[in-house]
Amino acid sequence: MSEFDKMLVVGLDGLDYRKIQKYDCSNLMLQTFGKLDTQGLALKTPMLWASIITGKSPGEHGIDDMLAFKGEKARKLDDLMDRFFGFFGRSGLHLRKTVNYYLYDDSISVPDKNYMETDSIFEKVADSKAFDIPGYSEYPYISGKMNVAKLSRKNPPVSRKRVKRDIDAEHLYRKEQLFENIGEHTLLMQHFHYSDWHQHMYLSEEKDRQLYKEMDELAGKILEKADDDTLVVFCSDHGLEDGGHRDEAFFSVNTDIDENQSITTLLESCLEHVDYKNKEETVESIEV
Ligand SMILES: [Zn+2]
Repeated sequence: MSEFDKMLVVGLDGLDYRKIQKYDCSNLMLQTFGKLDTQGLALKTPMLWASIITGKSPGEHGIDDMLAFKGEKARKLDDLMDRFFGFFGRSGLHLRKTVNYYLYDDSISVPDKNYMETDSIFEKVADSKAFDIPGYSEYPYISGKMNVAKLSRKNPPVSRKRVKRDIDAEHLYRKEQLFENIGEHTLLMQHFHYSDWHQHMYLSEEKDRQLYKEMDELAGKILEKADDDTLVVFCSDHGLEDGGHRDEAFFSVNTDIDENQSITTLLESCLEHVDYKNKEETVESIEV
């Protein structure tokens, strides 16, 4: 009794449950809209998205930090520096990353599906496409510039102005990629980091207002392009206020689902409304 034959998941990083309501983002508030329970986990982007797409806790799926360490030595060094520089606050984080960057160029990378210890929703649905998901997809060059992910000599930290130029370009690229693929797959997920980066860079109400308007317009265009047979899910991994992550993630779905959702239940609950299994059989029978 599935009402939909396709599912589209749009991940809007750091988009805040309370601010969506404050700025009256009507396109982002679909039939079932609520706060997404992050289950008391540390609000670190890659592990939260990994939980969303696997339905498992970080201990189970194996993506348990911002960075992945190829060697035990690199991880130990980072832990040590975390303790040492921790008390300098954000400038300490920068020092830690700079030291790591010079000492362990190749040992530290962004965690992706090679580090994942369980299957995700994309292995479950035959015709699925996943774009730019932290903790899963190979992560783009831009993340190094934002100084939050890949540290390598090819991607040194750069000026704020260049970061801004590059996040705009990356955002445009992801939008185009999404619109090219809407309607083409049983399961499609596109992640946007723009909303997180933007709120980390600009700490003003006016900039927030602009951002939420822009994201709400994007949601409107997505809803226009998706057909009636598509279950649409908008969600975030955490909220963001005063430059820091907060426990105000949201979810929004264009059908009735249980209003109590956590990062490990959301996509599974949505998938129950999608006729993805029959499709899988059809594909197999054609191949035979
Ligand atoms: Zn995030």
